[in-house]
Amino acid sequence: MKTRLLTVALALTLLSSAIGGQTRVTPPDNKYTPAQDVELGLQAAAEARQQLPIMRDDAVSSYVERLGQRLTAVIPPDLQRSEFKYSFETVNVREINAFALPGGPMFVNRGMIEAANSEGEVVGVMAHELSHVLLRHGTAQASKAGKYQMGQVAGAVLGAIIGGRVGSVIAQGTQFGLGASFLRFGREYEKQADIMGAQLMARAGYDARAMAAMFRTIEKQDGANGPEWLSDHPNPGNRSAYIEKEATMLRVSNPVTDSGSFDRVKAHLRTLPKAPSSEEVAKTNARDRQEGSAPTGSLGRVAPPSSRTRDYTEGNIFRISVPSNWRELPGSSAVTFAPDGAYGQVQGQSVFTHGVEVGIVRNERHDLDTATGDFVRSLAQSNPRVTQRAEPLPTAMAGRRALQTPLDNVSDATGDRETILLFTTRMRDGTLFYVIGVAPTTEFRDYEPVFQQVVRSIRLND
Ligand SMILES: [Zn+2]
Repeated sequence: MKTRLLTVALALTLLSSAIGGQTRVTPPDNKYTPAQDVELGLQAAAEARQQLPIMRDDAVSSYVERLGQRLTAVIPPDLQRSEFKYSFETVNVREINAFALPGGPMFVNRGMIEAANSEGEVVGVMAHELSHVLLRHGTAQASKAGKYQMGQVAGAVLGAIIGGRVGSVIAQGTQFGLGASFLRFGREYEKQADIMGAQLMARAGYDARAMAAMFRTIEKQDGANGPEWLSDHPNPGNRSAYIEKEATMLRVSNPVTDSGSFDRVKAHLRTLPKAPSSEEVAKTNARDRQEGSAPTGSLGRVAPPSSRTRDYTEGNIFRISVPSNWRELPGSSAVTFAPDGAYGQVQGQSVFTHGVEVGIVRNERHDLDTATGDFVRSLAQSNPRVTQRAEPLPTAMAGRRALQTPLDNVSDATGDRETILLFTTRMRDGTLFYVIGVAPTTEFRDYEPVFQQVVRSIRLND
């Protein structure tokens, strides 16, 4: 018995000295909720998957996932968040880069694995990225920037994903030219992510000096495959030095010694066709858009709503049933369901003439009536011909109090009058959940029952 106690005491001493020996990292102030991090990240990730060639090669993707899981398994208790959803995907492009989105989704470029000299180097970059997620740097930065609506932040996050040099090519073809400031971190956040990343590495069994080595490799890159990563993660100065200093204070628990998996994945990558550059990917995307292939769509004949329905679950936030001939069109901060012929691009803006848009907006005032009024005003700002036809009527959505507000508009797409029904309710965290039903005024009588049915189908998971 006594020896057992002694062992425990000894272990505790070791643990506390390890904690005492490492640099303390405090997450910066943040006005967003962790749930909002998740929401932003999931939406932006959905968009990223549409824009980027995600590798489906199991040998590679399961390896990267495994490395990610080793890191998430050792997240310190004070930074664990049950709502975060970590995922680790590999992008088939050759630039040395990686990015992580608020709430957990991470994307690692194939080029980063190819440039790494050891597994620890790949883990180092992933640990750095994961630290930005854990410390909630994306939304902390958005908080500093002042009053932003959810949609604007999502757009900016997206701009950041497809940011950098590639972004300027992609951004021209999208409405998300807001700039990449939200995932471009300042020196203070970079240093935090380096230090916390080093600590995560040690806990996962890696020598944190591998992170410094990878950053040096990245810095040495130049030319067309140059350090894109560095433009999002600027060197705060003395990067290698302070990472190595931190590494000396850390005890590596259960060191990972196997390098076989890393070597096998590298060898496997050499057998695959060379990865395209991000610029090549961006050009292909732009060409697809011009040729009008999905998801851009085109405006034309619209079939009436099918009486059969199809269910969708959106980012673990809500469930919805819509007519089965309506397509799901994910956007940066909302999802639209519309039939063929009813959606497309007008002057670079996504528009739809029939269907519903469902989304969430952050609002400063938390009562439903005020938040709805604010939202109607923001709709009128982006659609100057929107007018409110009548006062909101009380209704219900997802088993809670909701408002139904009728609006008139003139369609940017067709120039015809259209009728809009706006449904709003509150999420538990105070954000506004909305459904916008849109149909040409001449067809509205046929669509209104469909909108009501769609609204009745909604289940919120908050
Ligand atoms: Zn960084």
